[in-house]
Amino acid sequence: MEILNIQDWRISVGNKPVIIAGPCSAETEDQVLITAKSLVSKGIRIFRAGIWKPRTRPNAFEGIGSIGLQWMKRAKEETGILLATEVATPEHLEECLQVGIDIFWIGARTSANPFAMQELAEAMKGMDLPVLVKNPVNPDTDLWQGAIERLQIAGIKRIGAVHRGVSSYDPGPYRNVPLWEMPIELKRRIPDITMLCDPSHIAGNRIMIESVAQKAFDLNFDGLMIETHNDPDHAWTDAQQQINPDQLERMLQSIKLRIVHPEGISYEKLDNWRDKIDELDLQMLEILLKRMEIVHEIGRYKKANNMTILQPERWNNVLMKNIRQSEEKQLGKDLITKIFFAIHEESIRKQTEIMNKKDPG
Ligand code: PEP
Ligand code: MN
Repeated sequence: MEILNIQDWRISVGNKPVIIAGPCSAETEDQVLITAKSLVSKGIRIFRAGIWKPRTRPNAFEGIGSIGLQWMKRAKEETGILLATEVATPEHLEECLQVGIDIFWIGARTSANPFAMQELAEAMKGMDLPVLVKNPVNPDTDLWQGAIERLQIAGIKRIGAVHRGVSSYDPGPYRNVPLWEMPIELKRRIPDITMLCDPSHIAGNRIMIESVAQKAFDLNFDGLMIETHNDPDHAWTDAQQQINPDQLERMLQSIKLRIVHPEGISYEKLDNWRDKIDELDLQMLEILLKRMEIVHEIGRYKKANNMTILQPERWNNVLMKNIRQSEEKQLGKDLITKIFFAIHEESIRKQTEIMNKKDPG
């Protein structure tokens, strides 16, 4: 896949990550023009605004519709800022193309729907403009990848991904849980993809946006899409999570950009540590293998003696003992819990296989 050519639509701050900023929704002509002009004065080169809003329940404000595109067009004519908006149907796309939208994004509810994605991809066939695909609302990296593949098959060359977190029954302090494993895995599968983060929809509030954005840059993201409004308190949608252009500027100035392979530093130390890690990883694998061999023997013994695979008391003891030891060694209870759940799951799987084999095992 070709790399999304971001060079020509990067912005000014520091090492020039991609920054897309603008309101959740276009509301009035003044709001669009004032916000866009203010963003341009801060060096922002790409303006976002939602024209059609996918709202959870009807009767909420569902976007200003086509008229908003005219306001965006005017913002571009007056400032030269590039325009980005969400499209969910071929009709949206058609209208956007007519007014000169430069970049499209596909929202989280659309990328979760293969029928809608397929329809959009076909409507976009051969289009040369960049398309950004938000992760689906549910934590499904395959579905995200699938949405991107539909665009690739349609011949779209400049494709980016936007991480906006996922819905959860219990999202904790976030609006959408930032399952960072998802974008990390997508990037592993599609190394060339431009990966942006939408800290606004992850955080759901102004206070946490900066830390989410910083985390994204720590994880080598290429930029941000961030909701910015000239008067956030009175925004018609997502007021709690929008910031104003001054706040955006301050935030971008305080965020630290990091580089995967900085030049002019010595990699000797790092290489040494990595050699040691590789050696330890190998030892861990060998220990796991030995452990599994014993699990296998125990499985045969249980089968021969008609014992249950799960021995609740033993499992609880193993878990508790290791959690206690991890706490003593300050190793992180969560990590040890996850590791032992995974090991135990695999032991059960292995022993189930032995149990159900037809031969004497
Ligand atoms: C948005 O960016 O305005 C939006 C609706 O986001 P999402 O699709 O991520 O919910
Ligand atoms: Mn929004």
